[in-house]
Amino acid sequence: MSVRRAGAGPLLPGSTLGVLGGGQLGRMMGLAARRMGYRIVVLDPDARCPTGQVADEVVIGGLTDEEAALELAGLVDVITLDTEHVPADLLDRLEEVVPVRPRASVLRTIQDRQTQKTFLDGLGLPQTRWAPITDDAGLDAAIAEVGLPAILKVRRAGYDGKGQVRIERAEDAAAAWDRVGKRPAVLERVVDFVREVSVVLARGLDGAIAIYPIAENVHRRHILHTTRAPAPMPAERQARAEAIARRIADDLGHVGVMAVELFELADGALLVNEIAPRTHNSGHYTYGAAATSQFEQHIRAVCGLPLGDPRPLSGAVMLNLIGELWRDGDPPWQHVLARPEARLHLYGKLAPAPGRKMGHVLLLDDDTDRALGVAEELLAALTPA
Ligand code: AMP
Repeated sequence: MSVRRAGAGPLLPGSTLGVLGGGQLGRMMGLAARRMGYRIVVLDPDARCPTGQVADEVVIGGLTDEEAALELAGLVDVITLDTEHVPADLLDRLEEVVPVRPRASVLRTIQDRQTQKTFLDGLGLPQTRWAPITDDAGLDAAIAEVGLPAILKVRRAGYDGKGQVRIERAEDAAAAWDRVGKRPAVLERVVDFVREVSVVLARGLDGAIAIYPIAENVHRRHILHTTRAPAPMPAERQARAEAIARRIADDLGHVGVMAVELFELADGALLVNEIAPRTHNSGHYTYGAAATSQFEQHIRAVCGLPLGDPRPLSGAVMLNLIGELWRDGDPPWQHVLARPEARLHLYGKLAPAPGRKMGHVLLLDDDTDRALGVAEELLAALTPA
């Protein structure tokens, strides 16, 4: 039995968290929630989803299923999200029943790339040149404005490079537009970055902000490959990155964990790539390498508790484990488990598929150059011949 205490102080252990979407982020949040004595109910079409395996209850339904989402709302004290791809109108409806954190208005700004970019322009924050595209004529106009090479990205529901096509030459533009199904999109100028970094922070219900050490991210085939933290970075640049993220979180009135992905240029400039209004893959290192993990921090924020200490306890490298590694069955985990500095995280996904994030390895080592080398050695040992 959950007791409604929203509006009357923080939600204390014993309260019930509702999570929309049952992926690995919800799972790790669920593990943290249960450790702290919270109950967790998840909405997902599959009871055996990664979050469902660690939840107290699963409400079966998709992220657009209003009836199922309302059923979940009736069971919980607060609702939060495993993914930003929940219709904002549905969140509006849920907010009439129970607090939703972050609020529908935050998701409305972020889940559409065009709205997100317009919001960033409004704050005067630096990003690559971009233009919206809604029709064939708009595509040519956008190329004229943005220049080439560029990346066409659908406005909604794209992630890990899905719904994105790179355009090198003007004559390839029409085919690229076809490839994304002529869906409303934005065109972005390709950034010649030297490095990708992210700022993961949490913002509490009272507006307090806790920022984790900046993460340095390497992508392979559009999917995060490794994260190193803390990212070696001059103090002035770090302060600039943090100020950008703080400004975004404050202006949105965000509550919970948020990640801001940045491109770092050779001259030290930082351009915002995108905002994720939730726990983030590049913050997984905090689960093991920080005094308070991003998952506990998110729970603290959405429950109205004071934020925990984001201090790093160790240098860390995170290596993502992608579905390809399962081609011949379970990878030989003994290679990971033999290393005392390695923590293995598997998400309980029942169907490995190419490009699917199945788990990660966290390497705890203050010498993060060495840890990056170990990550590659482990990857080689886990990769099918
Ligand atoms: P996204 O889903 O937008 O984060 O894109 C995934 C990855 O694609 C990014 O982390 C970059 O590695 C790459 N990427 C996306 N947009 C650009 C861009 N405008 N210029 C260069 N690389 C990009």
